[in-house]
Amino acid sequence: MAMQSINPATGELVAEFDTWDQATLDDVVTQAGYEFADWSKLTPLEDRVALLKRLGDVLMDDQSLLAELITLEMGKLYSEALAEVEKCALLCDYYAEHAEQFLADEPVESDASRSYVAYLPLGVVLGVMPWNYPFWQVFRFAVPTVTAGNIALLKHASNVPQCALAIEEVFRKAGYPDGIFTNLMIGSDKVESVIRHPTVRAVSLTGSEPAGRKVASVAGEELKKTVLELGGSDAFIVLDNADIKQAVAGAVKGRFLNAGQSCIAAKRFIVDSMIADDFTAQFQAAIEDQFVAGDPMDKETTLAPMARQDLLDELHQQVMKSVELGAKIITGGYQLDRPGYYYAPTILTNVTSNMPAYNEEFFGPVAIVLKASEPAHALGLANATDFGLGGSIWGNDIATAETMARGMESGATFINSSTFSDPRLPFGGVKNSGYGRELSAQGIREFTNIKTIWVK
Ligand code: NDP
Repeated sequence: MAMQSINPATGELVAEFDTWDQATLDDVVTQAGYEFADWSKLTPLEDRVALLKRLGDVLMDDQSLLAELITLEMGKLYSEALAEVEKCALLCDYYAEHAEQFLADEPVESDASRSYVAYLPLGVVLGVMPWNYPFWQVFRFAVPTVTAGNIALLKHASNVPQCALAIEEVFRKAGYPDGIFTNLMIGSDKVESVIRHPTVRAVSLTGSEPAGRKVASVAGEELKKTVLELGGSDAFIVLDNADIKQAVAGAVKGRFLNAGQSCIAAKRFIVDSMIADDFTAQFQAAIEDQFVAGDPMDKETTLAPMARQDLLDELHQQVMKSVELGAKIITGGYQLDRPGYYYAPTILTNVTSNMPAYNEEFFGPVAIVLKASEPAHALGLANATDFGLGGSIWGNDIATAETMARGMESGATFINSSTFSDPRLPFGGVKNSGYGRELSAQGIREFTNIKTIWVK
């Protein structure tokens, strides 16, 4: 089956690529096992760090071309694509500066004359990655993985094959030996065979809950480690003492960045009932004022298309089903009448617990506003989801907000800011949002053998 690259702003087919047959795939995965022996033993950490610095430089040298490719293939605004490439370069700089510290032996006092923890590479690691941040998600997986001495195999989402090939080329240009980072041209039907291959030791997946369950179950049967970064339905709690203007600005950014297609986007706006009508009116006004659909390469455009028509259709069905059950559309709720996959920025209110809007992840430009009678009620609503990725709390009583943050069932809670990922801080979820952590010291150690060495 061919992989297709389609421009979401026009719906036009841009490029097509043949996928690999099973024999080609098996050869590449087998070869990765041989590469591991050389890379982990013959390329010392200081050399791996030097390559990492070059990787960041290549990204910045080619920033505009790479950003253009991202926009062409998955539709985000060019300005956001430029920022994505820059963030990947910052990630390279971050690990170039800190990898030696994070991977250094750690002495531990025990009954031994000397005992310590060593962070040793695991082997070949498969990354199954999504299209929404087609560079960032891959770099976030691959940079710490290869720097720790592992080999990275990438199975990228089928709608971003050009980005996948471009990333492989960035590694090559930076001087990485062949085979340290390899893009596998395969669809999801061949992922199971890669996980079951004896050479592969671990898998990292970022994507939907069903994909995570499938990958984790195969890896579980094979007793191979997984890190899963799945969906989220992050709460954005606005307390009665919040600065509404600031909260509305955060809400617009937190919900509509990347056309709403982010796992840590604010999705459920839980607002104290004393200020809910005011907040909703200001939120609606800001959205209607701010978003102009157009070519995502154009500087004037502020509303980008969604990445695929099927994703838009799915989102629209979730909206319509919620409306049938009594939800109210305050603004939006339709696909724009123009070529491409543009969905009008939407706000839903009157949402109740029997609706998709209450229970499911909405992966696009749709905000759900719920009312809370008091902080405890707001926290209860925030936790009434199977997901647990991120969340935010807005209010001027920081002590109360921090107490609530600890009670929020999520991998991260931000106070008076919308949620974002930062290389310096661990990133990941609880509940059905997955497990394991990316970024920071925790992220680079996920795919290591955390080994005890004990000397009598
Ligand atoms: P998927 O989860 O289907 O895709 C993510 C990656 O997983 C892709 O590389 C995909 O490959 C692969 N994949 C899918 N199914 C399997 C499987 N059974 N076994 C192995 N690999 C698999 O996301 P979609 O693109 O379909 O988007 C659907 C939903 O996923 C979104 O609406 C959103 O809820 C969630 N999502 C979450 C993201 C996040 O950041 N957490 C990112 C993207 C999506 P292929 O493309 O070849 O199918």
